[in-house]
Amino acid sequence: PTNGLNDSEQQSEKLLGGLLATGFEEKSCLSRYDQSMSKPSPYKPSRHIVSKLRSYEMLHKRCGPGTKAYKRATKQLGHNELSSSGDECRYVVWMPMFGLGNRMLSLVSVFLYALLTDRVMLVDQRNDITDLFCEPFPETSWLLPLDFPLNDQLDSFNREHSRCYGTMLKNHAINSTSIIPSHLYLDIFHDSRDHDKKFFCEEDQAFLDKVTWLVVKSNLYFVPSLWMIPSFQTKLIKLFPQKETVFHHLARYLFHPTNQVWGMVTRSYNAYLSRADERLGIQVRVFSKPAGYFQHVMDQILASVLVTSLHPEYSDHLKNMFLEQASSTGETIEVYQPSGEKIQQTDKKLHDQKALAEIYLLSLTDELVTSTRSTFGYVAQGLGGLKPWILYEPRDKKTPNPPCVRAMSMEPCFLRAPLHGCQAKTIKIPPFVRICEDWKTGLKLV
Ligand code: GDP
Repeated sequence: PTNGLNDSEQQSEKLLGGLLATGFEEKSCLSRYDQSMSKPSPYKPSRHIVSKLRSYEMLHKRCGPGTKAYKRATKQLGHNELSSSGDECRYVVWMPMFGLGNRMLSLVSVFLYALLTDRVMLVDQRNDITDLFCEPFPETSWLLPLDFPLNDQLDSFNREHSRCYGTMLKNHAINSTSIIPSHLYLDIFHDSRDHDKKFFCEEDQAFLDKVTWLVVKSNLYFVPSLWMIPSFQTKLIKLFPQKETVFHHLARYLFHPTNQVWGMVTRSYNAYLSRADERLGIQVRVFSKPAGYFQHVMDQILASVLVTSLHPEYSDHLKNMFLEQASSTGETIEVYQPSGEKIQQTDKKLHDQKALAEIYLLSLTDELVTSTRSTFGYVAQGLGGLKPWILYEPRDKKTPNPPCVRAMSMEPCFLRAPLHGCQAKTIKIPPFVRICEDWKTGLKLV
């Protein structure tokens, strides 16, 4: 082999150090085993996470759509019970909310929750998820069947709904003697109420454990707070001895872009990025209203190779800069922006596919610059194993000084973490959880 690895090392590299299962048909999902564009990750998954994933795959196969266990579990819906029998399959359903970055972060969070609680994760497929990602689990499906009995209620689940856990707590509808509902809705958003955040308490988890079906809507990366639930922390320390690798490993395990998206990634990469000695990605997210091109943001961006933004002007200006003025050291600098969609159009197939392709292109760079509190950038940095420079958010239309800050770790930020320890006292934050560099109400693993 040309890369100096022997056969078993190559096989291990292809499976991301044992993270990925074997036995998938390769052609139907080329991205799954294609590491030709990326450098090998310096972060190796632990033995424990590898074996946890293999046992999860077995559980999913046993309980997934189409199985007897799944049929039994769906029959239970609508019938509340005093207690569940214990050996039945339990599920957590993920619903897509907000933009693609938000979705990928909440999906990884829900998956980790499923691993920790031995639930099977199923995803709502009524949006364009099947245009974006391949199936992650062998010989089964992660798609919630279209004839799932609660399908026509899923969209109506919100904070006011009578099956919302926080609302039930608020109304004192749950106590130690109450019957166990067959399903509950969990609301985990940036503006969720204290009652909803009780989800992150040990005693609440003991109750939720008995509920067969949980439906989660979230736009957040809530993993850091799972580490603060004592019984989860014990398990997590074993699974992820390197704490900042949670998203990196789980995202690379779960997300495999479809051939259509992977085609966009490889074509762009081969045409514009593969020959460069060094690739610098800059992700420019403008949250001001109106959004668009601003000189003060342009001034914040000094040099770049790959620019992704909804606004094409940022890369156009960079290009012109380097055309007019060669770099001081005589290096060749090329500027490339894959797309410039101008406005967010979540759930439009091609728009979302381009966005996903850009997230992957950003993750394939050597150095990365991202934008404050953008989940789009968080996903790219996590997939790529990169500690980015984060552009501060401009205030009053001024270029921030300093313009950016180096991230402490490659983990995404839980932008609105509960900061009250199970609602009573101020939370005890373990040393491996810190306030985010870019958002002061956020917590992240380091
Ligand atoms: P966030 O709002 O920055 O946290 O990221 P999200 O991904 O959740 O939502 C933003 C959405 O806007 C994305 O899903 C895309 O649809 C679009 N978007 C934002 N930035 C970019 C970009 O750099 N490139 C492309 N193609 N789309 C973007």
